[in-house]
Amino acid sequence: MHRKCVVAFGGGKTDPIDENRDPKDLLGGKGAGLVEMTALGISVPPGFVITTDVCRDYYRRKHLSQVSWEQVREGIVFIERHMGSRFGDANNPLLVSVRSGARASMPGMMDTVLNVGLNDVTVKGLANRTKNERFALDTYRRFIAMYGSIVMGVERGRFEDALKQLKAEVGAKEDVDLGEGAMRELVARYKIIIRQEIGDDLPQDPWEQLKMAINAVFTSWYGDRAVTYRRLNGIPDDWGTAVNVVAMVFGNMGERSGTGVMFTKNPATGEPAHMGEFLFGAQGEDVVAGIRTPFPLSVLAERLPEVHEELMRTVKVLEKYYRDMLDLEFTIQEGKLFMLQVRVGKRTGIAAVRIAIDLHKKANLISKEEAVARIRPEDLSQYLYPIFDPAEREKHRVIGKGLPAGPGAATGQIALTPERAVEMKAEGKAVILVRQETSPDDIHGMHASEGFLTARGGMTSHAAVVARQMGKVCVAGCEAVSVDLKSGAVLIGNISFAEGDFLSIDGFTGEVFAGKVPVIDSEVIQVIQGRIDRRDSEKYQRFALILAWADDIRRLRVRANADLPDQAAIARGFGAEGIGLCRTEHMFFANDRIQIMQNMILARSLEEREGLLERLLPLQKADFIGLYVAMGSHPVTIRLLDPPLHEFLPKREELIDEIARLETQLQMGYYVESARQEKAEAVMSKRKLLERVEELHEANPMLGMRGCRLGIMMPEITRMQVRAIIQAACDVRRTKGIKVVPEIMVPLVGSVGEMRAQKQLVAETAEAELRLCGMALKFVIGTMIELPRAAMTADSIAKEAEFFSFGTNDLTQTTFGFSRDDAARFIDFYLRRKDSCPACLSEDVDWKETRCRNCETAISERAENILGQDPFAVLDQEGVGEMMKIAIERGRKTRPKIKLGICGEHGGEPASIEFCHRLDLDYVSCSPYRVPIARLAAAQAVIRVRNKSRVH
Ligand code: ADP
Ligand code: MG
Ligand code: MG
Repeated sequence: MHRKCVVAFGGGKTDPIDENRDPKDLLGGKGAGLVEMTALGISVPPGFVITTDVCRDYYRRKHLSQVSWEQVREGIVFIERHMGSRFGDANNPLLVSVRSGARASMPGMMDTVLNVGLNDVTVKGLANRTKNERFALDTYRRFIAMYGSIVMGVERGRFEDALKQLKAEVGAKEDVDLGEGAMRELVARYKIIIRQEIGDDLPQDPWEQLKMAINAVFTSWYGDRAVTYRRLNGIPDDWGTAVNVVAMVFGNMGERSGTGVMFTKNPATGEPAHMGEFLFGAQGEDVVAGIRTPFPLSVLAERLPEVHEELMRTVKVLEKYYRDMLDLEFTIQEGKLFMLQVRVGKRTGIAAVRIAIDLHKKANLISKEEAVARIRPEDLSQYLYPIFDPAEREKHRVIGKGLPAGPGAATGQIALTPERAVEMKAEGKAVILVRQETSPDDIHGMHASEGFLTARGGMTSHAAVVARQMGKVCVAGCEAVSVDLKSGAVLIGNISFAEGDFLSIDGFTGEVFAGKVPVIDSEVIQVIQGRIDRRDSEKYQRFALILAWADDIRRLRVRANADLPDQAAIARGFGAEGIGLCRTEHMFFANDRIQIMQNMILARSLEEREGLLERLLPLQKADFIGLYVAMGSHPVTIRLLDPPLHEFLPKREELIDEIARLETQLQMGYYVESARQEKAEAVMSKRKLLERVEELHEANPMLGMRGCRLGIMMPEITRMQVRAIIQAACDVRRTKGIKVVPEIMVPLVGSVGEMRAQKQLVAETAEAELRLCGMALKFVIGTMIELPRAAMTADSIAKEAEFFSFGTNDLTQTTFGFSRDDAARFIDFYLRRKDSCPACLSEDVDWKETRCRNCETAISERAENILGQDPFAVLDQEGVGEMMKIAIERGRKTRPKIKLGICGEHGGEPASIEFCHRLDLDYVSCSPYRVPIARLAAAQAVIRVRNKSRVH
């Protein structure tokens, strides 16, 4: 079969593509966009896409196949026909750009070479043809610098320095001020740089240039920047990149020419306003590189109104077609508009919600369901980010103002280089990265920072795009900033800062403050806590609206894991429909209680213990009342005491040290007589504590006397807790009329015998307590399923348990045999093994050359990852999930209507939530702050399952 390596587009027509393949998968995002725009009749220069299949093939063979190359040549002929010029022609030369473009957009991570096809001969042809010698030479010097750095490997800075130097020599302020003569000189100097650095000349053969540029784009797929980016964003290596070869159009041809970028809505806030930036007499990256401060689109409307109008018409067509906010690149050549790129624009979580709502409500381009499907669940957390405290903020002077490019408030210590940012982060510091401008090489440092402040660049600059994508705070283009890397200082306005100094940046307003401005809760949280009226907060209203739409779709209920009344209140505010897990032990850690708890554990007799438990009872009861009240009549699941007792006692080593210290001090006569007595007693009591700590010491507490085993061995603890649960329920019923049905949950059951023992105790105690209260009140008794044996014997356990709640934290530990506290070290490696050197495990690998930079070994074969995901973060469906399936099936056999939920950390993680939806659980329970995320994810699970069944 003849493989189609190349897909051409031009003159309103495009080659057909395989209908069974997603165009982006085959052509990359950029290629698909060019093909689609052409088909829509939009003005796009002709070109062709070399498919991602060819990229994969390239990596297999390590070079471009003959078949592919022949099709590339045919593609050039296709472009020549449309342009009426010829590649390499001395009189009328065709120039092309060779552009990378993968399935997911990876802005600036890979390479693009512009103006391919220029040499000493064709540059003259270009000059004659356009009657513009300066333009031709400007284009040539751009080509030499790009080709020299990207294809030949000369450091880009060498060309930049030469440009700066020349500008200084001729007294030019900006690139556009350089005349024809200066451009000719620049071409000559650039050529010398290449000769000096490489010992070879710039290739003059356009076909060789083309082939080398294509190879360079393919190789850039494994460049360090691209590899890091993929790792951070979970993009698979085997997607590969497409290569787009596109006829050049020239924004640097003169005053009626230019180049620009635009977002069709505000990518930071979602406000429905076009946001564009534009430069006259410029090419390619000039706009985003922050070389000159670009103009807003209104200037284009003034100077070239017809072009502006056509751009607006094009935007309408495209928005209707893509039904989303778009990020566009365009170039104007002598008053004619060309579109060069379209993609769905990256945006902040806050903008994502607003845009989705508007697309449904205002534009009627998408359904409610689609609006819900489009928000990434994690995006919602941006609504919860802290903001600067308005009162405190007033006290700080604004020392600079830039563009609000990534929302949020960040306070931290200044780092001036990405390397320093990474180091400071490792030292546990919050970092604000301050740069003249950022580039894709800074990506690791950006990842390590809370926010970025740049001196140059607009809303579409690299720093801004990356910030919005990573969810970081960003103030871009703050002209008051000037970074001096040599002296390691930064001047903001007239204040000088050094690395490590504190700085605060407000990504909502673009303001920069010296020092630390304290942060407070977000608007949404303030509404939930009743400090702002919901009618006064548009942010809250949008947040609530998208979640209300999600609620109409989802089937799973969402509960919260909350131990204390104030957490429960927040959870309710976020829409939790009950408490899925109250860990009662957390109630004992409060100051007034831990001492009683310790004494209880130290008590030698049952009587003494019961006496102390009696003192804990009212405290625990008060907490339960708080939870019941916060939840109204929503269900509340209370888990009986779970952790081993030594967790309530001080650590053995600490006690030993403390005793030793006190004893030495006593011996050295440190204390006056009256104090001696007291200290001696302290030593005695600490010794007693130590003795008990040693008695309770377990070799492996995770598998020791904890969970239901504790309640079985010390029934008086269970009894006290049940009495508190029931008394509290009777209390709120009587005084507040709230009907609670307490769900009492027995932890860590492994056998039906354990369950039966605890159940009997709970039931007897509860009934006795109800008689005392003189009330008839329903309660249910169930268990957590968190041990493999419980899952396997779920049928018999279900005879005793009225509900199951999957404790997937412990179930993951016990199914894998991983201790969560000890597994981080190897799990981390399991997840990144494929990115590491097989010999020394270092991640400092050059994947282009497949060589370890650390131990210098050549890597013949790349290792595979051992785990795809961290099973403590994302539910392991294959193993732990299978265990859940068995438990559900067997549990339902005995008790068809058994209520099922999940209360492990996974209950708030979107992929795990989808799995729970498919398992047909009744609810998921997660931490209060993840409740909104879970509500949205539960709706998306419904949509996704529905769409999947539609396809098959
Ligand atoms: P990126 O993926 O980094 O955006 P692009 O391939 O889009 O890289 O190209 C880099 C710059 O060059 C962009 O500003 C783009 O608009 C411009 N460019 C690419 N191809 C052409 C062309 N054929 N004519 C004019 N400008 C081009
Ligand atoms: Mg681009
Ligand atoms: Mg557990």
